[in-house]
Amino acid sequence: MTRNRLQTKVMGALLLVMLAMMVVVGLSSMVLIREFSVRSATEHTRTAAEMIRLSLTEAMVNNTIDRRDSMLRRLAQVNSLNEVRVIRGEWVIKQYGEGLPMESLADAIDRQVLASGEPYFGVVGGLFGEEFRATIPYMASTDEDINCIVCHRVPEGVALGAVTLTASVDQMKYTGMIMALFLVIIMGLFALLSIIFLGRLLRPLMETTQEISRAASLASSGDFSQRVRSHSNDEIGQIANHFNQMADAITHKLTDIRDHVARLVNTVPDPQANLLEETATTVSGLVRVSQFKQAIEEDQNTDEVFFRIRDILLTEFKVAHFSIYQVNREKRLINTVIVDGTPSAPLRWCCPEILEHSNVCRAVRTGHAIDGLENRHLCRAFDDEALSGGYHYLCLPIIQSGGVGSVIQLVVMPPQIPDLCRHRPLISAYLREAAPVLQAKSLMSSLRESSLKDAMTGLRNRRFLEEYSDSLVAQCKRRQVPMTLMMLDMDYFKTVNDTHGHDAGDQVLRDLAGLFHDYLRESDLVVRYGGEEFVIILMDTGAEAAVAVADKIREAVASHPFKVAGKELQKTISVGLASYPEDAQAFWQVLKYADVALYAAKERGRNQVVRFTSEMWPADGEY
Ligand code: GH3
Ligand code: MG
Ligand code: MG
Repeated sequence: MTRNRLQTKVMGALLLVMLAMMVVVGLSSMVLIREFSVRSATEHTRTAAEMIRLSLTEAMVNNTIDRRDSMLRRLAQVNSLNEVRVIRGEWVIKQYGEGLPMESLADAIDRQVLASGEPYFGVVGGLFGEEFRATIPYMASTDEDINCIVCHRVPEGVALGAVTLTASVDQMKYTGMIMALFLVIIMGLFALLSIIFLGRLLRPLMETTQEISRAASLASSGDFSQRVRSHSNDEIGQIANHFNQMADAITHKLTDIRDHVARLVNTVPDPQANLLEETATTVSGLVRVSQFKQAIEEDQNTDEVFFRIRDILLTEFKVAHFSIYQVNREKRLINTVIVDGTPSAPLRWCCPEILEHSNVCRAVRTGHAIDGLENRHLCRAFDDEALSGGYHYLCLPIIQSGGVGSVIQLVVMPPQIPDLCRHRPLISAYLREAAPVLQAKSLMSSLRESSLKDAMTGLRNRRFLEEYSDSLVAQCKRRQVPMTLMMLDMDYFKTVNDTHGHDAGDQVLRDLAGLFHDYLRESDLVVRYGGEEFVIILMDTGAEAAVAVADKIREAVASHPFKVAGKELQKTISVGLASYPEDAQAFWQVLKYADVALYAAKERGRNQVVRFTSEMWPADGEY
């Protein structure tokens, strides 16, 4: 129940109690006044009766008793007396006769008083003909002053007669009613004044409470604009002032926080927006961005970072259609990393030309965000089918080392545009954090690539073999497939150097390296093992099949014209082969056996392929 309703109910109850009290007081005062009036009338009539008795006695003594009726009539004219009547008792009648006609008109009360000798006082008559009646007996006494026995022949103590006085009770009634009315009016006024006073006393409290309640309810939903009016200078007014001060302080601090936070995500705060909600949303977004940054810093490579961006787009921003492109700035190519959440999926949202010419992508060319949410025709590389399907796009470039390293393309239908616009600052914040990490990771991977590559031929080097030999064996074990290692060496290479110079020798080596690829698959590895020695690893290939490949390479080399200083040279190679797991279980043991087989090929006259056999390495020792 609200305090206002409580107050109304309390006031109502108070009013009812007051009314009840007024009725009770009114009624009881009427009863009391009536009681008092009856008592007072009793006393008065008793006195009057006594005076009448004395007057009658006096009249008897003075012998003027015959004129008593005129005295009684005059008495009856006394204001407020309706009737004065004297009746004779049985003894007096016996002695003196009936007397005046009015003196023998005895009614039931008279007879009862005469018989009992007890006076009667009371109100008689109906509701509208009420009157006070007193019937008082005159008893025969033998007092010194008045000895009734002198004149009356009656025993002492009998009732000689009685006097009946009736008086109007209207006066009594009116007085009672006026008194009761007076009391009721006084009490009513008091009640009214009390209620007005209480209302005035409570009103500031009620109004302040209501306003604080309204302001607090708005504040809890983030609107701190509501202030409470100060209705008085007392404690209630102070409560209102303190509330306002608190609201001012919170608004000030929150505005500060919101502005700072907005600066962090490069947005302009909306003064109309819900302060608390907007700040809380942005702060929690920033916390997620910071957690994202920590996570990607510990990721192994750029692919892992892109996967995290994919997960955020899918789960946090609910964008289902998007492309993540990586730009090869040297070759001016673009490759799709992830499309609509699927890694290495084919291009879907742009024309295929961007793959071959990165500059066809407007985001790559300009280095700016391309906002196709309003103007869908901004970029001509956006897929025609998607365009006619009603899709809109937003392409956000990620700048790495001063150029566009990657592009995040978000594709939405019109109903999702407002959400995307709302999320855009936070998405950009994520990408801003991702940019330096992607830059560092691609730098690391290119450094690593170059440290594992032979600069002259572009082939992998010996260090690569040292690093990856274990994983190659593990791969074969897991898939339960063989691999064959070929060790190749150019025959009489020294003579090339000696005859045509070192540079010519280098050129021959480069040509030779280029020849291998025509006979190998993607999964095979070519390593420049040292000088003019090469190792070729044929994955998922047993020795027999490998011998055939090696022979083809050997033949290709033998028939290849190596161009040196305008001349053509014919060179040959010798090849030794050994297989995992057939010849040995350890990678380096297999390689050693391939070398042994190469040695055998040289021994047997060069330009030939020799498969390792156990006779070639009788010793049991491990490499
Ligand atoms: P064979 O293998 O048939 O026994 O005779 P070979 O003349 O090829 O002898 P060997 O394999 O021992 O000779 C290797 C020569 O290759 C020695 C070295 O001068 C030369 N060489 C090694 N690395 C390079 C290189 O990077 N460039 C050039 N031009 N020559 C190199
Ligand atoms: Mg050699
Ligand atoms: Mg050689």
